[in-house]
Amino acid sequence: MELPYAEPWKIKMVEPIRTSTRQEREAWLKEAHYNVFQLRADQVYIDLLTDSGTGAMSDRQWAALMMGDESYAGARSFYELKDTITRITGFDYVIPTHQGRAAENVLFSHLVHEGDWVPGNSHFDTTKGHIESRKAVAADCTVDEARNTQLEVPFKGNVDPAKLEKVLREHGDKVPFIIVTITNNTAGGQPVSMANLKEVRALADKYGKRVIFDSARFAENAYFIKTREEGYSDKSIKEITLEMFALADGMTMSAKKDGIVNMGGFIATRWEDWYEGAKRFAIPFEGYLTYGGMNGRDMAALAVGLDENTEFANLHARIHQVEFLASLLDEYGIPYQRPAGGHAIFVDALKVLTHVPKEEFPAQTLTVELYREAGIRGCEIGYILADRDPVTRENRFGGNDFVRLAIPRRVYTDNHMRVIAAALKNVYDRRESITRGVKITWEAELMRHFTVQLAPADE
Ligand SMILES: *Cc1c(COP(=O)(O)O)cnc(C)c1O
Repeated sequence: MELPYAEPWKIKMVEPIRTSTRQEREAWLKEAHYNVFQLRADQVYIDLLTDSGTGAMSDRQWAALMMGDESYAGARSFYELKDTITRITGFDYVIPTHQGRAAENVLFSHLVHEGDWVPGNSHFDTTKGHIESRKAVAADCTVDEARNTQLEVPFKGNVDPAKLEKVLREHGDKVPFIIVTITNNTAGGQPVSMANLKEVRALADKYGKRVIFDSARFAENAYFIKTREEGYSDKSIKEITLEMFALADGMTMSAKKDGIVNMGGFIATRWEDWYEGAKRFAIPFEGYLTYGGMNGRDMAALAVGLDENTEFANLHARIHQVEFLASLLDEYGIPYQRPAGGHAIFVDALKVLTHVPKEEFPAQTLTVELYREAGIRGCEIGYILADRDPVTRENRFGGNDFVRLAIPRRVYTDNHMRVIAAALKNVYDRRESITRGVKITWEAELMRHFTVQLAPADE
């Protein structure tokens, strides 16, 4: 008999988590204004709010922490990090930052100006924020397939070359760079193929433009290229990442994702002019160039994390777990963005809570129900997150309405996945009885989902 697959690590340290009663959760929900961001973490049993900064470091990473060099300038830990990044990406210039959005802030301060157009595939919300706050346009050129949650295609995160070329043709002189997000978080953790990265490169060269990869989950993207794209099954993850980054001019990185550290990020590029330009903003915004917002020990742990997480076994364990959860949802008939993403399952709330009107936010309602059912905290990636139209101030009901179940790296076991699936099934089984959603009682003007206050719509 073929042996089943298992994680390439064993557990050395554990952290207790606690269950709660439905009665307790009901009270906590009310206190939190039905917004799970307002819950205290110890009111949560299984926390799937995000995979950002929530991963478990390895013993080698913890050991590296102790060896961190905290020198202000020229720390050994910086050079360890820089050499690792250069080995994995081929980029020679590296600036550490305190997280991914800080990398965007520093590099975009140099590159993005009022009236610019920055085409890409479903810009992440902070990326979009850093473009729009500079009065530039983030033009979404994602393939249309990404919108249809039931369509099973291997690279649903791709850039549509026709859409990209249209932007380049019409606004070419205003495009400072093209940005490709790997994997495409907003479209459901969906990967971008090597073939597509090559198409983007060819268009960039045709119009004389540079390309940035928003690389938070670049290793997971490489895993999907290896396992889904023809010609890559025999290549190592490190060979594939080098080939991917050879098609880019630079990257911004949230190390809280595929770096498996709790905080950190960086910019890396092959171009001296970009490095020189970014340097001017790195120092006032982040810190001196050899630490830029990070401790020496954190840079040391990140160097180890990047190395470990560009090995196949580690990525396979992680993505296998996400796929395991997906297989349970398949068994129960619960609809989600197909195929399963690299870091999360995006449950299609509109297909679950069909009786809740969209004005009452189905995905947020499902997020609340899942917490109420079992103390599991997901995250609405839907109509509340979409904010209001800046001009009409109407809610934007045009896109998908998802509950994201983000799986932290190396944190939960497959038994936790079984609990999550069973809890969702219980909600799914009583979906016909859920006819009312939530209403907004207070909201911020921008990025309202973090702080929005809600109440049951029928109250
Ligand atoms: C998380 C993320 C960012 C921002 O990184 P932070 O570390 O949260 O600041 C940017 N892009 C993508 C695709 C991300 O997932």
